[in-house]
Amino acid sequence: MQTAPAESGDRSELGLIRRLRFRLLFGLSLTVLAGLVATSIFYVRQAEEAILAENERSLHKVTDAVASSLESIMEGGHAEVAAEFNRRLARVGGATRFLIVRTDGRPAFRDNETIDAVNRVLGTTAFTPHGEVETELQPIPEASSPAFQEAARGTEARQLHRTGPGGEDLLVFMDPIFSREVCHRCHVGGEAVRGVVIMETSQVQVEKDMLGARFRALIGLMMALGVTMLATGYALGKTLFGPIEGVTSAMRRVSLGDWDHGVPVESDDEIGQMASNFNVMRERLKANYLNLLAEQDKLTTILLAAREAVVVTDRDGAVVLVNPAAEEILGKSVAQIHQDGFEHIVDDPEIMHCLLSGEPESGVLELDYHGRRLAVSAATICDGDGAVIGSAALIRDVDDEHRMRARLSHMARTDELTGLYNRRHLDARFAEEFDRMRSSGQALAVMMFDVDHFKRFNDTHGHEVGDQVLRQVGRVTRETLRIYDVLGRYGGEEFVAVLPGLHSGDAGPVADRLRQDVARLRIGDGLQVTISIGVACTETVDAETPDALLAAADKALYVAKRNGRNQVQVAAKTIT
Ligand code: GH3
Ligand code: MG
Ligand code: MG
Repeated sequence: MQTAPAESGDRSELGLIRRLRFRLLFGLSLTVLAGLVATSIFYVRQAEEAILAENERSLHKVTDAVASSLESIMEGGHAEVAAEFNRRLARVGGATRFLIVRTDGRPAFRDNETIDAVNRVLGTTAFTPHGEVETELQPIPEASSPAFQEAARGTEARQLHRTGPGGEDLLVFMDPIFSREVCHRCHVGGEAVRGVVIMETSQVQVEKDMLGARFRALIGLMMALGVTMLATGYALGKTLFGPIEGVTSAMRRVSLGDWDHGVPVESDDEIGQMASNFNVMRERLKANYLNLLAEQDKLTTILLAAREAVVVTDRDGAVVLVNPAAEEILGKSVAQIHQDGFEHIVDDPEIMHCLLSGEPESGVLELDYHGRRLAVSAATICDGDGAVIGSAALIRDVDDEHRMRARLSHMARTDELTGLYNRRHLDARFAEEFDRMRSSGQALAVMMFDVDHFKRFNDTHGHEVGDQVLRQVGRVTRETLRIYDVLGRYGGEEFVAVLPGLHSGDAGPVADRLRQDVARLRIGDGLQVTISIGVACTETVDAETPDALLAAADKALYVAKRNGRNQVQVAAKTIT
């Protein structure tokens, strides 16, 4: 189940690398192609120029041969052979036109104009005129072209192109025939050039050759490109993209939690270094991740086990964490707490505003919430740079706490056996009442009483029954005296009662009523107990402190014991 997204992610990452590879190869191909095309163009141009130059050289050789043959014929004085030679030239294969023209462009050896001129110089019988001659010879069409003019002036061979009747390209090669010393015997004009050899050839074959050169260049280009791309692609894949794909795939797996997926280090170059660094990084990340998981487990345990409600928001104030105790204490579902938002955790947004703005100083507000007493604290959480990263609220149900505190407080001040105050609390309350009565000028009486012969009672009936006696004496005392009288067990079977506002005249009767109530008690199988009481009242005893008043009551108790027990003794002024 978990590997499916990993594999699809892997595929998309690898797809990216492959696209990068193809883009790089494509870019490289374009660059290589541009270089190869430039090289090919250069090569084709060179090849074409070589073909044209070779063609020109061939033509030149032929026209030179014709000129030199013609010179030989003319030097031998065979002008009539020259005319035949000229006629045969027209039949030479491979040439569409092959003839010799005068420098004005008119065909030579077709009339008697030159023979007549030479005969005039050398004597009328030097050369035999042609039998049939053409009259009004027209110059060849190229005669007016600059190329022909230049050739006729004797610069060097010239050429020009013209389109043939079938649309084919025809090259007209024009090679001057120079006059030599020997020529001037017959031709007295002294011209530098005697005529021009015109050889016209079709360029079809030349064009075919050039096309062949271009085709070969194209084939070479494609092969060079293919080989370059294959070699580059292989080299890039082997040395660059393969290792990068390996690292990328491993990164992807690591990011999905597969910490054990390392990258093989296959070289010690930069790529190998990268793979090695990745493995080190992976190990460190794994260690950190496992530590974080352990910490997270601890925090989760704390949050789950906490009896306090914990609600946390993100930096935007959205609730992102609610622990189970929050549901229980707030009486809302997690979804409801998320929906209500942080401000309304305890319904009243004012409370959260106060707490987040630092009030009260204690940081805790107690409030009644749906029948519960809650202590709420909240704070804004900032990172190390002081930027807010969220808020957190801690809510405690303090009902139990209050109950427990009250119970502890009760236990701390109560005698467990009788339910009356213990000695320590009695002393404190006595001191309070003493001060209050003194400051208000009212009377205050204190009684100290003790169970008579209790030791004997204990010894006879057992400790359990003794305890029962003490409990019953405490209960009767509570019932007999007023609700605001302060009653306590002073120690063993001794009790003290502080009676605020009791005048000295009433103290004795109240004490005696208590004595009688105790004497009427029936415990267990009808056992009876008596108590002796010593009473001291601020109206009759000159006591400055509670201890002094109590000491007076204690002395009166002693007197009561001495006088036979089961009686009340009121301390007189003289006693202190
Ligand atoms: P008196 O009439 O002179 O007061 O004689 P008494 O025996 O009562 O006095 P004494 O002080 O000699 O004995 C007190 C006895 O009370 C001793 C002790 O065993 C018993 N006692 C003290 N505290 C407790 C108690 O919490 N439970 C029980 N059962 N006995 C107690
Ligand atoms: Mg005693
Ligand atoms: Mg006693």
